[in-house]
Amino acid sequence: MTTLSISADFDSGNIEVIDASSPAHIQLAMRPDTKSPHFQWFHFKAEGLHIGEPHHFSLNNASQSSYNRAWTGYNAVASYDHQDWFRVPSTFDGKALNFTLTPTHSEVYFAYFEPYSRERHDWLVKHALENAGTELLTTGKSVEGRDIPLLRKGNGAPGKRNIWIIAQQHPGEHMAEWFMEGLIERLVEQNDPQLTQLLDAADLYLVPHMNPDGSFHGHLRTNANGKDLNRCWQDSTEDTSPEVFFVKQQMEKYGVDMFLDVHGDEEIPYVFTAACEGNPGYSPKQAELEEHFRRRLSEITRDFQTRYGYPRSQPGQANMNLACNSVGERFKCLSLTLEMPFKDNDNAPNLVTGWSGKRSKQLAKDVLTTLAEMVSVLR
Ligand code: ZN
Repeated sequence: MTTLSISADFDSGNIEVIDASSPAHIQLAMRPDTKSPHFQWFHFKAEGLHIGEPHHFSLNNASQSSYNRAWTGYNAVASYDHQDWFRVPSTFDGKALNFTLTPTHSEVYFAYFEPYSRERHDWLVKHALENAGTELLTTGKSVEGRDIPLLRKGNGAPGKRNIWIIAQQHPGEHMAEWFMEGLIERLVEQNDPQLTQLLDAADLYLVPHMNPDGSFHGHLRTNANGKDLNRCWQDSTEDTSPEVFFVKQQMEKYGVDMFLDVHGDEEIPYVFTAACEGNPGYSPKQAELEEHFRRRLSEITRDFQTRYGYPRSQPGQANMNLACNSVGERFKCLSLTLEMPFKDNDNAPNLVTGWSGKRSKQLAKDVLTTLAEMVSVLR
């Protein structure tokens, strides 16, 4: 008889074992981010499972996690091959997140969301350079020295609009790099009149992954210094948050005419945007562009909507440490945070996968269509 074992010593792995002696009650806990109390991301492998027998897993510290209200209505994802992920019905009992799987294989992975690996990131960047006609403008470095490539599609000719799209400042929000993969996939396709229209007028500046250290270590929220990158756009330094420092520097160099910061939201089961309406300099033009973007994207896909989201900021009350607000104020442009769910889009639920990498990818393609329509009015 094989013994059950749980491991998380790999890229974006995160779990601590409390007691795995009985398949009837495998007790686990999520590990906080380095130098930070945040946690919510988990990703682990269970081996030595008994095929055909139910295995019950509990994440005992769910109630203490960063977004503990988000567990209600959430279902964990699992995969036997780390490629095809499916939801496992889960319940939150006020303390622990619980799920039961009767496995068809002796080995299974569980995660908070379909993970986007560092290996796939490396492939994606190569793919973008070799097949999508992007160039590597420059490479930033994370706290621990991991690469942060900045890609450009377009030649930087004067008069072109500069559209910036960055992803996964929050390292546990893996749907963000799935989004970038979808975007790059569309750049590879030939005979795409909408894309041609967009690229005739604009260059795309892409940072597929802002926080590689955090993702590698299985963090939810912070870099290797315990810094929340989306809370340091006013005071980033080369030492504490070089990831943001780098991108701000490059934005100053090339300019920004539109900014999209791609994220995932733990709680809300819809895709939505947040804007910079609380900025001191928020202009009618920014308001009009924001409304235009939201309306068109919601017409193009059922995977975007405008009813649910964060409460809007009061005038002048924006937190300027957020990328969206900081960039919107500095460059007086359309500036948005895009949030995709960890759960599902309740307007078009998929009972097998919930929200997924595949759907994140399609959303990116629809965003490009929206931008193609809007590019002539961005300034
Ligand atoms: Zn986020």
